[in-house]
Amino acid sequence: MLEEESTRFSRDNTTMRKCLQFFTLACGLIVTEASAPRAAAESVEMPSVKLRIDDYAAVATDLLARAQDGVTQLYEAIGVNTQWLKTRHLSSWPSAASFPADSGVADLTVVVLDPTMTTRIAPSPNAMGLAANAPSAQGRIVYVFYDRLRIVTRQRDVPGAAALSLVMAHEIGHLLLPYGSHTEAGVMRGHWDLEGFRHLDIGRLKFTPLQGQQIRRMLRGLRPFGPSQ
Ligand SMILES: [Zn+2]
Repeated sequence: MLEEESTRFSRDNTTMRKCLQFFTLACGLIVTEASAPRAAAESVEMPSVKLRIDDYAAVATDLLARAQDGVTQLYEAIGVNTQWLKTRHLSSWPSAASFPADSGVADLTVVVLDPTMTTRIAPSPNAMGLAANAPSAQGRIVYVFYDRLRIVTRQRDVPGAAALSLVMAHEIGHLLLPYGSHTEAGVMRGHWDLEGFRHLDIGRLKFTPLQGQQIRRMLRGLRPFGPSQ
């Protein structure tokens, strides 16, 4: 392990947090090759999830769109349709009442934070994202610490859209999978070394077949979402 550049990233041990984190072990990017066909016994109807981005970080529009496409493709690969509601570009923490009335109801919201907001949340030092869930309560919101992500992607020359896709898809995955669903590889890999991240190829990342099945079952109503902001 490289200690300096390092920032050693240990698993976030708070019960409310499951984050995509980086660490500097010198291991390569491992990508599973598993395909994710739908199980024959499952319904043929494609489950869907309504997503929205609340962008407080003024992310470039085209980058955000490409990141959304990346998330869409990752979920399509496991037979899940993503419906993106109109992104809300915001500049400060609003009260719930200040959201536009016609903004629609999302199942899950991705909140892309600016540096001040990241500091306020005080995530573990090297976390890039966080899913607000717990073993006993299904969460609806994930956070992206965009300032941190942008630093890493610039330093390592990683495509920003791919990195943002991964963080969003990973954290959304936490809300659709059983609590504590990290794997050693693929989308739900929880720890990344910086060198491996430099070679990030979002097109080769996948959920495992089991994760795909769990997510589809979740979305088909075994644990349905209720109304949310
Ligand atoms: Zn995670």
